[in-house]
Amino acid sequence: MKSQEVHRERDHRCFRCGKELPAGSLSYITQIRIFAGFDGVLLEPEEGVDQQFNQLLKQVEEANPEDLEKEVYQEFHLILCKSCRDRLVEEIEHPWGNPGRFVH
Ligand SMILES: [Zn+2]
Repeated sequence: MKSQEVHRERDHRCFRCGKELPAGSLSYITQIRIFAGFDGVLLEPEEGVDQQFNQLLKQVEEANPEDLEKEVYQEFHLILCKSCRDRLVEEIEHPWGNPGRFVH
Protein backbone atom coordinates (compact mmCIF):
# COMPACT_ATOMS: atom_id res chain seq x y z
CA MET A 1 0.00 0.00 0.00
CA LYS A 2 1.31 3.36 -0.97
CA SER A 3 1.88 5.56 2.02
CA GLN A 4 -0.14 8.65 1.72
CA GLU A 5 0.86 12.02 2.88
CA VAL A 6 -1.46 13.36 5.51
CA HIS A 7 -3.67 15.67 3.63
CA ARG A 8 -3.74 19.03 5.21
CA GLU A 9 -5.84 21.93 4.33
CA ARG A 10 -4.27 24.02 1.65
CA ASP A 11 -1.91 26.64 2.96
CA HIS A 12 -3.64 29.86 3.62
CA ARG A 13 -2.65 33.36 2.82
CA CYS A 14 -3.18 36.46 4.83
CA PHE A 15 -6.23 38.20 3.49
CA ARG A 16 -4.62 41.57 3.82
CA CYS A 17 -0.95 41.32 2.90
CA GLY A 18 -0.99 38.04 1.03
CA LYS A 19 1.70 36.53 3.19
CA GLU A 20 1.65 32.75 3.14
CA LEU A 21 0.49 31.15 6.32
CA PRO A 22 1.58 27.54 6.13
CA ALA A 23 -0.18 24.98 8.26
CA GLY A 24 0.93 25.23 11.83
CA SER A 25 1.92 28.88 11.66
CA LEU A 26 0.34 31.54 13.74
CA SER A 27 -2.70 32.95 12.05
CA TYR A 28 -5.87 34.67 13.10
CA ILE A 29 -9.38 34.10 11.90
CA THR A 30 -11.39 37.25 11.67
CA GLN A 31 -15.08 36.77 11.66
CA ILE A 32 -17.01 39.70 10.33
CA ARG A 33 -20.76 39.83 10.49
CA ILE A 34 -22.66 42.60 8.83
CA PHE A 35 -26.26 43.07 9.77
CA ALA A 36 -28.77 45.49 8.47
CA GLY A 37 -29.28 47.85 11.33
CA PHE A 38 -32.67 48.69 12.63
CA ASP A 39 -32.85 51.41 15.21
CA GLY A 40 -36.55 50.98 15.91
CA VAL A 41 -37.45 54.15 14.07
CA LEU A 42 -39.53 54.00 10.93
CA LEU A 43 -39.29 56.94 8.61
CA GLU A 44 -42.20 59.28 8.69
CA PRO A 45 -44.56 57.84 6.12
CA GLU A 46 -45.80 60.30 3.56
CA GLU A 47 -48.29 58.05 1.88
CA GLY A 48 -49.43 56.09 4.87
CA VAL A 49 -47.92 53.09 6.48
CA ASP A 50 -50.01 50.61 4.49
CA GLN A 51 -48.79 51.84 1.17
CA GLN A 52 -45.23 51.97 2.36
CA PHE A 53 -45.53 48.47 3.64
CA ASN A 54 -47.05 47.22 0.41
CA GLN A 55 -44.24 48.82 -1.52
CA LEU A 56 -41.72 47.10 0.68
CA LEU A 57 -43.48 43.79 0.19
CA LYS A 58 -43.38 44.28 -3.55
CA GLN A 59 -39.68 45.01 -3.42
CA VAL A 60 -39.12 41.87 -1.43
CA GLU A 61 -41.14 39.83 -3.91
CA GLU A 62 -39.22 41.18 -6.86
CA ALA A 63 -35.81 40.86 -5.33
CA ASN A 64 -33.64 37.83 -5.72
CA PRO A 65 -33.87 36.13 -2.34
CA GLU A 66 -30.12 35.57 -2.23
CA ASP A 67 -29.34 39.20 -2.91
CA LEU A 68 -31.85 40.26 -0.38
CA GLU A 69 -30.34 37.97 2.18
CA LYS A 70 -26.89 39.38 1.51
CA GLU A 71 -28.20 42.85 2.01
CA VAL A 72 -29.55 41.95 5.40
CA TYR A 73 -26.84 39.67 6.67
CA GLN A 74 -23.39 38.72 5.50
CA GLU A 75 -20.64 36.85 7.18
CA PHE A 76 -16.96 36.72 6.31
CA HIS A 77 -14.15 34.61 7.59
CA LEU A 78 -10.81 36.20 6.89
CA ILE A 79 -7.43 34.82 7.73
CA LEU A 80 -4.83 37.28 8.89
CA CYS A 81 -1.19 37.05 9.85
CA LYS A 82 -0.18 38.39 13.22
CA SER A 83 0.99 41.80 12.08
CA CYS A 84 -2.15 42.42 10.02
CA ARG A 85 -4.25 41.28 12.92
CA ASP A 86 -2.46 43.75 15.19
CA ARG A 87 -3.03 46.53 12.67
CA LEU A 88 -6.68 45.67 12.28
CA VAL A 89 -7.19 45.73 16.03
CA GLU A 90 -5.37 49.04 16.16
CA GLU A 91 -7.63 50.49 13.46
CA ILE A 92 -10.77 49.28 15.16
CA GLU A 93 -9.70 50.73 18.48
CA HIS A 94 -8.44 53.95 16.95
CA PRO A 95 -10.43 54.46 13.75
CA TRP A 96 -9.06 57.94 13.17
CA GLY A 97 -5.47 56.85 13.28
CA ASN A 98 -4.50 59.56 15.68
CA PRO A 99 -6.90 59.71 18.61
CA GLY A 100 -4.49 62.03 20.40
CA ARG A 101 -5.66 64.96 18.30
CA PHE A 102 -9.06 64.90 19.98
CA VAL A 103 -8.61 67.13 22.95
CA HIS A 104 -11.47 67.20 25.37
ZN1 LIG B 1 -0.79 39.94 6.73
